[in-house]
Order: sequence, then C-alpha cells, then structure tokens
Amino acid sequence: MASDQNDKPFDGRKLSDTICILPFTSLSVHATRHLTRCQMTEQSSGQISDSESAMDLWHGKKLVELREKMIRGEFDEIGCRNCRNKEVKGLRSKRQHWHELNLVKDLWSDPNTFKTLPDNIFHIDIAFSNFCNFKCRMCSGAYSSQWVRDEEALIKMGIAGGSGGIKPKEAARRKEHMRRLSEDEMRAILEKSRQVRRIEILGGEPFINQEFFLFLDLCKEYGIGPNTEIMITTNGSSIDRDKLERLTDFKYVNINLSVDGTGEYFEYMRSSGTMKWTELAESALLIKEFCKQRNKINPNACWKLNINGSYQIYNSLNLYDFVSWIVETFDWNTSEPIVNSKFRHSWEHRLLFGPRHLSALYISDRLKPLACDQHKKLINSYPLLNSVRENSYLKDIETLLSKDHKLDPADKESHWNMFCWYTLALDEIRGQSYRVLNPALAEEIENTVSSSSYQNQVERWKSESLQGNSSE
Ligand code: SF4
Repeated sequence: MASDQNDKPFDGRKLSDTICILPFTSLSVHATRHLTRCQMTEQSSGQISDSESAMDLWHGKKLVELREKMIRGEFDEIGCRNCRNKEVKGLRSKRQHWHELNLVKDLWSDPNTFKTLPDNIFHIDIAFSNFCNFKCRMCSGAYSSQWVRDEEALIKMGIAGGSGGIKPKEAARRKEHMRRLSEDEMRAILEKSRQVRRIEILGGEPFINQEFFLFLDLCKEYGIGPNTEIMITTNGSSIDRDKLERLTDFKYVNINLSVDGTGEYFEYMRSSGTMKWTELAESALLIKEFCKQRNKINPNACWKLNINGSYQIYNSLNLYDFVSWIVETFDWNTSEPIVNSKFRHSWEHRLLFGPRHLSALYISDRLKPLACDQHKKLINSYPLLNSVRENSYLKDIETLLSKDHKLDPADKESHWNMFCWYTLALDEIRGQSYRVLNPALAEEIENTVSSSSYQNQVERWKSESLQGNSSE
C-alpha cells in the first residue's frame, strides 16, 4: 500500500501567523445550517436559507472580509480564538495542522497566492442535520436531536446547556435546526466542488440520516469520488457492510469512529444506554475487517479506520485502558505499527476545550497527579507510542497537565464546580450515575458538592422543572 508523508512540514514554507488556509479553500456547513470559516468555531458567516445558498455565503461579505483581514496581517482573535488559545499554550492548532497537509500544499506558496485562488471548493465539512441517536456529554442540541430535551431540562435547572452556555432563546430555536439540507442545497454546493479533494461528513449521525445517502448519490452524479477522499465521523451504532459498500467509489475512505473511553466510560459519556461498549468494540472490528477486504480486493483502494476521541475530565483517568484498547484493536501489540503512512489505521485524541467545564485544563488539583500517572503508565507500557504519529496527542496531554497555564485560581475553581454540577444535573435527567466512572473522580465530585447541598439543589430543580412543565 502506498506510503505518504502526510502531515509533515514541507519545503520550509511558512504562512504568516495571521493566515489560515481554511477560509480560502474550505466550505464548512454545520448541522444548524450555519456556514462558518471552519469547524473550530460556531461564529456564523450566515445561515443557509431559501434566499441565500451556501455558495452565496461563501462569497458573502463576512467571509470576504475575514480573508482580507488575514491577508492584511490581522488575526481574528474572536472568531479564531480556538486556534489562538492552543497556539499560545504551545499546543498544535487546526490552523497549523492544515498548513502542513499535503492535501493542500500546492494551493499556496505565499499569502498572496490566496488572492488568485480559483472559484472552487477544495475541501468540504458538511453536516446534513442534527438528527442523532446518541447524546454525548460534550455535545449539544445543535448537533444531536437527542440532546434537545436534555438541554431544555438543564436550562430549567439553571445549568448551562451542552456546548457550555446555550441561552434559553437559542435552545428554543433548536427545532428550526432540525430542518435538513435539501437536494437543491446539496446540488448548489456540489456544482462548485468538482475539484474537491476531501469531504468530511459530520454529525448528527450520518449512517441513520437519509440525506447522507442522497449526498453520496449526488456525488456520483457530479463525478465526485474517484479523485476525492471522504472522511465520515460516526458513532458506529448503525454501520453494516451494505452501508459501507455505498462508499466504494471514493479514492480514499476514512471511517472516523467517535469514541473516547472504554466500557462504562463509553456508555456514560456517549451512548447513554443506546449502545453497549461491547457493541461499539464489535463495530470497530467490523469496520477494520471491511477496510482490510476492500484494500485487498482493490490494491488502489485506501480504506482506514480512525478512532476519533477527545481528552477531557471524564476520561482523564481512563487514558491507559482506552489507548491499550486501541493498541490491541490495531494489532500494534503483536506487530510493528506502521509509523507514518496516511493509509494505516490511526487515532486522534484532541484536547477538548469546549464546553469549558469539561476541559481537563480545569481538572482538580487532587485528580491531576492521577491523570499524569495514566499518561506515564501508558508510555512505559507501550514504548512504541513514542514512534507513532499519534504521540503528538499524548504530548499535548502531557503539556496540558504539566503546566499551570497561568490560570486564575477563582476561574479554575468555578469551572471545576461547574463540571460537578453539570455532571450531577445530567445524571439526574438521564438516570445515570457518575459512580460508574473512576472511584477517585466520584469521590472528588462528592467532596466538591456536599451531599446536603446537592439534595437541596435537586429538590429545587425538581420543583422548578414541575412548574415549568405545568405551564407548558
Ligand atoms: S485559524 Fe483556526 S479557527 Fe480560524 S479559520 Fe483557521 S482553523 Fe478555523
């Protein structure tokens, strides 16, 4: 199978620190029908409607002004703060990642190149609606229809909704977001995407979404596939061989399976009872086996499984078990891992920064050493991890945990407290219990929120919730 030096810096070329290639080359459509500069921000460049297509917005005032600003040497501190926050902490940002991708390296030689880019989309991030059967704790009603009710309940309890701080009015508009992308809207995008190199499908859950399969049919009609990579982010609950067969026209297929913890961690953090951990593990093996067969049948095919996780407070004490599972699933424990091929199975474990109260940046001082121990145990048990590309995620975790990042102590305490109340509130709504997670984490939550004040809080939530229901 072909080897690729993907993700390596190249040619010594460097873009200005204010430039990002994504707003110039990429179209990003959220489940909310909002267009953004990339998937790292929710700052809208406009919402797709009957009067404004995705392409109208891509050429619209907001994105044009952003591109001009970047070329002038101004960084957009608000809209691009996710990348800026990472870069100032010495962590790798999406902006930096994209500048080093072979996928787009021929598209620029210096910032001026962008002025003459053709009127074409090279990369698409797209979600068709928020229709989903999971309600992952770090998600929100904007991306999961299952979350909408929980979000409303959280707000009634006085706790910010998913994605940290959804306002009641915004939550009430969620139902609007459930309008799905129409065939005409998809056609308008594909018309300008005949040179697209990579398509990333995001959630809702694509494999239960009929618009996803319509989109695949349309790609075929527009001749998009044989020269295009496709990456599908999925929760793995509805994958079978027939559905995977629908992807065989694409040049390169990456099944991006979202999972960040093993056993109870998975069920607590993501599926919320919809899917058992054993079923998810079977789904990972099914995808892996399908990739193997496709690559065997067609030596030019490139199919891979990517485990797509996020590192946050909930799974910080599960890191060792989780990565051990990946090592075994990929057979890295019994055979030498391929260190640097784009086409090998892989895993991404990005630091989660939003919702802020779930970020491991705010883990309590008592839990932090335990999280560091997980990291050390992992590196000691699997020295091979030092040589694989994924080591950069472990280095980011180490950097996050080993520095204090000059956090304001009051701010840190406030986010940790929010983590505890958010956890208890969601448990109350979903009939789950954080006690299935690590005992040290459970003890720390209980130390933070005394049981008596929690009981009072629950009583208050219940009465407010009842009042809310009766007035509906
Ligand atoms: S700098 Fe970061 S946030 Fe801004 S457009 Fe690029 S990837 Fe997105």
